[in-house]
Amino acid sequence: MKLHTKNERLRKIPSVDETLREPDIRELVPRYGRAAVVKAVKLLLEDIRKKILTEDGGLHSEVTVPLDIQPAQVEEKITAIARPSLQRVINATGIIIHTNLGRAPLSEEAINHIVTAARYYSNLEFVLADARRGARADHVEGLLQELTGAEAGFVVNNNAAAVLLCLNTLARGKEVLISRGELIEIGGSFRIPDIMQQSGAILVEVGTTNRTHLADYEKAITRQTALIMQAHTSNYRIVGFTAEVNLPELLRLGSRNSIPVMYDMGSGNLINPALLGLRDEPTVQEAVKSGVELITFSGDKLLGGPQAGIIVGKRHYIRMLKNNPLARALRIDKLTLAALEATLKAYVLQPEKIDAVPVMRMLTVAEQTLKKRARKIARAVKRRLPSLTIAAESDTSQIGGGAFPLHDLPTWVVAINPAPSSSNDFEHRLRAGTPPVIARISKDRVLLDMRTISPVEDRLVVQCILAAVEQHQVEHTNAQ
Ligand SMILES: *Cc1c(COP(=O)(O)O)cnc(C)c1O
Repeated sequence: MKLHTKNERLRKIPSVDETLREPDIRELVPRYGRAAVVKAVKLLLEDIRKKILTEDGGLHSEVTVPLDIQPAQVEEKITAIARPSLQRVINATGIIIHTNLGRAPLSEEAINHIVTAARYYSNLEFVLADARRGARADHVEGLLQELTGAEAGFVVNNNAAAVLLCLNTLARGKEVLISRGELIEIGGSFRIPDIMQQSGAILVEVGTTNRTHLADYEKAITRQTALIMQAHTSNYRIVGFTAEVNLPELLRLGSRNSIPVMYDMGSGNLINPALLGLRDEPTVQEAVKSGVELITFSGDKLLGGPQAGIIVGKRHYIRMLKNNPLARALRIDKLTLAALEATLKAYVLQPEKIDAVPVMRMLTVAEQTLKKRARKIARAVKRRLPSLTIAAESDTSQIGGGAFPLHDLPTWVVAINPAPSSSNDFEHRLRAGTPPVIARISKDRVLLDMRTISPVEDRLVVQCILAAVEQHQVEHTNAQ
């Protein structure tokens, strides 16, 4: 075989135009459109270039990168380009509110309401009865009042925005008292001190990390104090030698000094935790009843709705928030509003059937149900792959989203020992599948937690496991 230098070989790569003149490539244009074919060809030619540049260029090298492009390659490339970056995954981590995986999947009602709001015009900011201008948040304010018992409510883009708006409205240029033990960071990007700074409020830390007493707040009050803030320490607990001031005490202190109190609840639980078999998580209703002036929480954590920041509290303060120009910059999108309205309606109209909201269903599903499903999946895989070590096992899952940080839920998992391949390898292959399955590894086994897998996904999970094993066998055979 004649040896070429790299440069010679690079020069031999056909141009985009030459490639497009090839009859079997040209044929693809009517089917996929010229722009897509051109883009795919360009990328494939670039791939060839890169391969030539990186291949072993030794004197006697006979490595030859094929210089021509096959129509099948073009079609494959077009499919890859067209595949959305944001795609569905199967959450087999067991973490119900997983911020990296999109937090709460929505109820069917919420999804249908989004579709209608997306497809047609709507009365988003229009009062149909008298043809005057309306406010978008009005569509959910009544529901929020009814559900929480609050005098008024408002919604913005997310809870970080809700906190920002409250601080900016009530305390710009003034001081806000908050316990050192509550200067939290959530998910790496929400930090109370940073939000405080952006709002223009001046942070005044009181107490110590593990112990804060009422006297600490009292001593810190000056004529500049505009607000006392309490933040739910969502994703951790300080345990041991601790002291914190409870909300009623703070409220008494606030009212003695005419200083409003705001409470960032984070997850915002509307259902009595005892009904969910959980403890230790205050409800929004309890916080409202205590008289706190403003409460903020997320729409897509325990509530199980879309990303949103919900604010409930005293009418006077809610009105101030609505009138702040910043509210316009933080406003909720109409599709989100549609999903939020439907989610809140489920709590108002069918609290006994609240498992229509997937987060609530996953939270309350019976262990026995998870066990049955795990066994069924393990059996179905075993039938096709008798040599694979796969079994249903009991385990624990986390709620996530900063709710109940110390509370693990008993669950059932499908445990796979992929030997001879490693569990890291197998986890990776599941994650590279269609759709990707996100699993966890424990003691050299790959665990798929049934709690966060929807029952309608069970058959798909079987296919994904089989595909991952088969993929391994293909790679194995090729390597031999
Ligand atoms: C999650 C959380 C936030 C941030 O809420 P987003 O809806 O993600 O913006 C703020 N405060 C607390 C206490 C939280 O748990």
